[in-house]
Parts: sequence; C-alpha cells; structure tokens
Amino acid sequence: MPDTSARIAPPQLGEPYLLTPGPLTTSFATKQAMLRDWGSWDDDFRAMTRDMRKRLLTLLGEGRENFDCVPMQGSGTFAVEAMLASFVPHDGKALVLANGAYGKRSAQTLEYLGRDHVVLDKGDYLPPRGEEVARILADDPAITHVVAIHCETSSGILNPVEEISEATYAAGRKLLIDSMSAFGAIELKPSEIRYEALVSSANKCIEGVPGFGFVIARKSELEAARGRSHSLSLDVHAQWAHMEKTGQWRFTPPTHVVAAFLEALRAHEAEGGVAGRGARYARNRDVMVEGMRGLGFETLLQDRWLSPIIVTFFCPADEKFDFERFYQLMKGRGFIIYPGKLTVVDSFRVGCIGQMDEHVMRQVVEAAAASLEEMGVTDATPPAIALEERAKLAA
Ligand SMILES: *Cc1c(COP(=O)(O)O)cnc(C)c1O
Repeated sequence: MPDTSARIAPPQLGEPYLLTPGPLTTSFATKQAMLRDWGSWDDDFRAMTRDMRKRLLTLLGEGRENFDCVPMQGSGTFAVEAMLASFVPHDGKALVLANGAYGKRSAQTLEYLGRDHVVLDKGDYLPPRGEEVARILADDPAITHVVAIHCETSSGILNPVEEISEATYAAGRKLLIDSMSAFGAIELKPSEIRYEALVSSANKCIEGVPGFGFVIARKSELEAARGRSHSLSLDVHAQWAHMEKTGQWRFTPPTHVVAAFLEALRAHEAEGGVAGRGARYARNRDVMVEGMRGLGFETLLQDRWLSPIIVTFFCPADEKFDFERFYQLMKGRGFIIYPGKLTVVDSFRVGCIGQMDEHVMRQVVEAAAASLEEMGVTDATPPAIALEERAKLAA
C-alpha cells in the first residue's frame, strides 16, 4: 500500500475537519484548482470533461468496455432521480431495498415519477439479504428492476450488493445501484458483480467539492433510455448523446467543480485508485472505532457490517451527556461530527472519508475524550435499550 501520510495536509488555518460523508475535507490542491475560470464551450474544458469521464470509467476495472459515464449537474439526489427516470421504463416496476434515509428517498423519487414500485423496508439499519430479494422477485413477476443502496450512509452499513445482484439476475431482473457514498473507495467491478447502472457524486469518496453527480451505465441501457425521462434537465440519454456528439454538457456545467474534481481524480490515482483509497478509509475507521470503544462508546453495527465510510455510535446513557454540547465541544477542537438518524435510540455519526489519515483519527478520539471530560461524563457506555436494539442484527 502506498504511503499516503505525506499527502495529507491539515485543512486551512482555522478550518475544522469535516467528519461528514460529503461535503468533506478536500485537499489544498483540489481547492486551488478552482482559482481559474473556464469557457464551457472551449476545447480546454471539453478535454477536461473527456478526461474526467474516462478516469471515472477506469475505476470500474475489468468489464468497463460496455459502460459509459454521464455527468449530471446538481447534487447526488439529482443523479439518482436521473438514473431512475431514465432506466426504469414507464411500464416497469421497481423493488426498492430500503434500510435508511437514502433507500426511502429512492422510493419517494419513484413515487414522484409515477413509476410502479414496492419497498422492502428493513427499518433503520437491518441489511436486505439475497434470499429475501429472491423470494420477493419469485412472488412478483411484474418487478423489472431492483434498486439497492451500496453504503446506506444514514447508518453506515455496507449492504450486501453481491448477493443482491446474484438474486436479481438469477430471477432475470436488472439492478440499479446508489453507490453515492461508496464509489471510489469500494470496488464495484462489473466483472465481479453485475448491474446496469450506478450513481455517485463529486463530493464523496473521490474527495471533490459539491456540484454534480454522475451516472455510470451500460451503453445498451443508455441507448434504451432514449425518450424515457420525464425531465428535460435530468434526461441521461439526452445528456449522453449531446456529450458524445459535441463534447459539451447540455446546460451550463459547474466548470470550477469539474476542475477541482479532475485534480481530486489525479490524487485518487496517485493514492493507488480504489484499493488505495479504500485502504486508507478502512484504517481511518479501524483506528477511530478502536479508540472510541476504548472510551466506552459502542457502534450500532457489528464489525462485519461496518463500512469504511461512516460509523454510527450510540449516545452514552450518562444523563450528563448532551449531543448538542458534545457537537460544539468537538467543533471547538476542530472536528465537525454528524447527528445520528436512528429512530429508536439516540446516536451520532463520525465519517472516515476525506483528506484525513489515522493520525487525524487519533486526534478525533482524543478530542472526544476531552469533550466527555468537560461535560463530566466518565463513561460513554450506551443505555441497555441500545444494546438490545443491536442484538437484532446477527453478526
Ligand atoms: C450523499 C448521498 C446521496 C445524495 O445526497 P445529496 O445530498 O443529494 O448529494 C444519495 N445516496 C446516498 C447513499 C448518499 O450517501
């Protein structure tokens, strides 16, 4: 594994680290790449768009020849909506595998689009399993597509997309993946796992700044998507066809964001690509989780489900613990953490992605220890109900 420590520089003076799953802490070089204006129609910018699409496809590894990459203006949700509207036919039916906010959002999007769908709702964090998918597909021949969330960022669980893919294609259906928070750090090789399309965005594991998302899809699906979208601006086929013909985006591209993203892609390559990036994030997680457990904190998930993207911790039972105060104390020490999204027990989240390494993660643990001490909390053990909740998930 390449040594990345030399490339990790602290954020600019006075800037806190963002322990959040995007926007996240970017490198100085990435920010610096935005200090220039580009003409969207100019050859130089068209070359940048071409280079970016090619580099993103490279991240797929083996089997990428049949895929193409279509960037889409807007936040990640715009790209998810573009994908669903473009690839689920009007007379199709989707099975959405939900175990958190982003699965629910995909279902809500299909509702807006008027596409027939059913939801397998596993609650706050239980993983949708291959055999459940197989059963639902066997019972409902009308389902044409399965929609899965790769890393469900609201709990940090890494969903078992391999077994979901196997079940989907064994039943002759198609898989669409929201890999927003995982792409670039966790392999999704078409030679190893089958799918028709995935989406991600600029401000997650590639470590760019927010401003656009991208759809990576089989060319056959891109061709079949012609005329299907409900939306002019979110039409993936139209964006793809225009880009193939002219090298340009259909409407004003986020030029500075693209320039920053290209810089981030170069750094991603220098770090060893998906494997190198994933290894740093996994190390970030391991160091941070071990340290936090040492303070008495407990993770929502057992180790096998913990993603290297973001980790959910239960709030301590001690009544002197107050999340709002803890947040401010952590911020005062230079770290922005993230509130939890569980409905049953209080929790918070700590992200492992962005320009941070294990040395930074050790400082995060030290800051958590000092913040607890300042609140007068001597033990971070969660309430019994939290541990009962966790027991629902088999290791
Ligand atoms: C970040 C994210 C999105 C998109 O969120 P935006 O706020 O629209 O950028 C979608 N799905 C997942 C799993 C995510 O982590």
